[in-house]
Amino acid sequence: MEELIPKKKGRKRRKRRIFVRLMIWLILVFAMIGMITVVALIVYGISKLVPKASSEKTVNTSGSYDLPGVSIDDPQTSAVTSGGSGTAASSATASASAISVSSSDEHLNIDLQLLTKNPYSRPGTTLSNVNAVVIHYTASPKGTAAENREYFEDLRIFKTTKASSHFIVGLDGEVVQCIPTREIAYASNNRNKDTVAIECCHEDKTGKFNEKTLDSMKKLTAWLLVKFGLSADDGIIRHYDVSGKLCPKYFVEHEDEWKKFKDSVAEYVDEHRAALAADDYLTFTEFGRT
Ligand SMILES: [Zn+2]
Repeated sequence: MEELIPKKKGRKRRKRRIFVRLMIWLILVFAMIGMITVVALIVYGISKLVPKASSEKTVNTSGSYDLPGVSIDDPQTSAVTSGGSGTAASSATASASAISVSSSDEHLNIDLQLLTKNPYSRPGTTLSNVNAVVIHYTASPKGTAAENREYFEDLRIFKTTKASSHFIVGLDGEVVQCIPTREIAYASNNRNKDTVAIECCHEDKTGKFNEKTLDSMKKLTAWLLVKFGLSADDGIIRHYDVSGKLCPKYFVEHEDEWKKFKDSVAEYVDEHRAALAADDYLTFTEFGRT
């Protein structure tokens, strides 16, 4: 049959065959490109999902000057943004709690992790008089002091709300200072201008503080009372007493525990007044380093 087909027709057939092959190749090439694109999108999607999950946690939906239930998973980031090298600072953060936990009865270690000045968490506004110490809870079960400090630091980037605290007392009793007491923090609404704020970490939803946290809360509050010449009676207040907010939850729901805490501070001040007033009551580390 082949030979019988005129030359013209044969050429046409060849052309058609070449065309068909070309089309098949094109389809194959496009299919390959499509597959590569799909795979790339999947990989990109997965890589995006992980940081997205943690950054979503940092968004404060409450809109108030208090901490939402947040936790940030990468403690190294705090060190990097604060000017340390990743590894050095992360080990420093780890050792910070070890140092502060060793605080004796007449001694308290403060780990200075001052925030970068920014309009969202450390405005740098002078705090000229201190009339009270305000106790808060982080509303973030199991959240560490480092994570909460990191949340404040990241507000300068995320700009989702204004929030901070002078001090954060962690689950191991470690005390992280975020803002010098001569500057205001964004913690206690209309009392930001004349109070020092302490955020306290807690284990679960009840907001109950563990013994180590309570011990450092007591010492830090006592030291602040002596420093600013305040009495335990009216010098220690809850965020609740300022704005009616359920903060610190456990001390609002358990008035007797709140009284017990205040009494423990008063007693500690009475027993250790001289030590509290001495220069060496506080020792300092900076990001865990002496
Ligand atoms: Zn609060």
